Amino acid sequence: MNSVNPATGKIIHSYAEYSLSKIKDILAQCQHGFLQWKHVSLKQRASKMKVVAQVLRNNKEAYALLMAEEMGKPLAQGRNEIEKCAWVCEFYAENAATYLAPQQIKTEAHKSFVSFDPLGVVLAVMPWNFPFWQVFRCAAPTLMAGNTIVLKHASNVSGCALAIEDVFKKAGFGYVVLRTVLIGNEKVEHIINDSRVKAVTLTGSTGAGQAIASQAGRALKKTVLELGGSDPYIILKDADAAKAAATCATSRLINGGQSCVSAKRFIVVKSCLKEFEERFVMHLRAQSMGSPLDSQTTLGPMARIDLRDGIHRQVQQSLKKGARLLLGGKIPKGPGAFYPATVLTNVRKGCAAYDEELFGPVAAIIEVNDEKEAIHVANDTVFGLGAAIFSRNIKRAEEIAMHELDAGCCFINGQVVSDPRLPFGGIKQSGYGRELSSFGIHEFVNIKTISIQ
Ligand code: NAP
Repeated sequence: MNSVNPATGKIIHSYAEYSLSKIKDILAQCQHGFLQWKHVSLKQRASKMKVVAQVLRNNKEAYALLMAEEMGKPLAQGRNEIEKCAWVCEFYAENAATYLAPQQIKTEAHKSFVSFDPLGVVLAVMPWNFPFWQVFRCAAPTLMAGNTIVLKHASNVSGCALAIEDVFKKAGFGYVVLRTVLIGNEKVEHIINDSRVKAVTLTGSTGAGQAIASQAGRALKKTVLELGGSDPYIILKDADAAKAAATCATSRLINGGQSCVSAKRFIVVKSCLKEFEERFVMHLRAQSMGSPLDSQTTLGPMARIDLRDGIHRQVQQSLKKGARLLLGGKIPKGPGAFYPATVLTNVRKGCAAYDEELFGPVAAIIEVNDEKEAIHVANDTVFGLGAAIFSRNIKRAEEIAMHELDAGCCFINGQVVSDPRLPFGGIKQSGYGRELSSFGIHEFVNIKTISIQ
């Protein structure tokens, strides 16, 4: 398994894939860890998670550098990612006892209540785009609930996967609470079928979700799936176009456009199209593409050359189907997986930019006549992760968000973001289940009824 620097195309490190017998040993360690960790009080778990947060902060520079080298994230963005990981650890350290407190329920019995027990070893299959955040977003609540984790990270970020395992070693638990397995995706089913593994969480593509859900279904194990998205951002005629264009540009280019909840389709009502296009293009043109190690860089390379080629194909196909190029669209000369900020307008159904997820720095502008058509286009996708509405009429925007949009998270006059305090997840082919907040910590627990007559 090779880690390749996407800015240079050079191999940084080759890792040997783990054998089945090594995986077996690791699962035994995770199970052994679970049998101890589950008896640790919530107060003690919380103090351990605070140490984990401290280890993350102490090694922030090294982890940001690792992400820059393995998947091209500019250093400043990597530092922010590590801070966010520390935050989610502290957030659950502070709130897990409240979320997991037994809930009394009035019945005819003397006493009835619900308690929340951990399940055991949870398999986490994770993507490369936020190599630390995706893991900590699921690890913090899952561990605080008393489970342990076996992590199968994406094959191109094995260095990050080992560094995450090391965070928990450095935090000094005394036994295993999280271990990494370096394997390709074809060995995942083997782990799902192991009787010590009680549940699976995947963040990744819809195809991986379908594969894992069917394998886990056969083994009758619970899954949480955080999959792809094609988030619509609706700009209504009474929107503050300047604010909308700036927010849309920031959201589109988050992590070089390689984020499940970055804005992907910009659905703009005709009367504000011209102003929106001009301002939006101006923001994207101002980006500085270059080495992720350069402090001036705001747009690094894409994570892999095959992903860069894939998005270029989507752009080419969309142009053939009638889309018009306002910016970018050309692969730059030289090494690396670079792709410029690109804007397509006149995007219609039948264009890849309308029908598929654009996982890179490419924006699709879709013109609509009115609010009704905007809502129709927003929902005209197999995905249902995030959505945003820009309007000065907050009351109406709230109604649209609550009752009209098929999405797991709707933001008004702002960009969709993940936040430890708010539930995060999708519907339709964006998956099911929720991460973060009180909802996230209840995904991998046994919701146990206890009734005393
Ligand atoms: P991916 O190819 O699905 O990979 C994600 C993880 O799943 C990797 O660890 C991968 O392992 C594994 N995997 C892939 N195919 C598998 C299979 N058939 N069986 C078992 N495991 C499998 O996705 P990606 O290209 O890394 O990430 C981009 C996708 O993730 C996008 O669609 C994006 O929207 C989505 N995503 C969603 C969220 C969310 O919160 N909803 C967040 C981030 C990303 P290998 O690397 O070994 O193939």
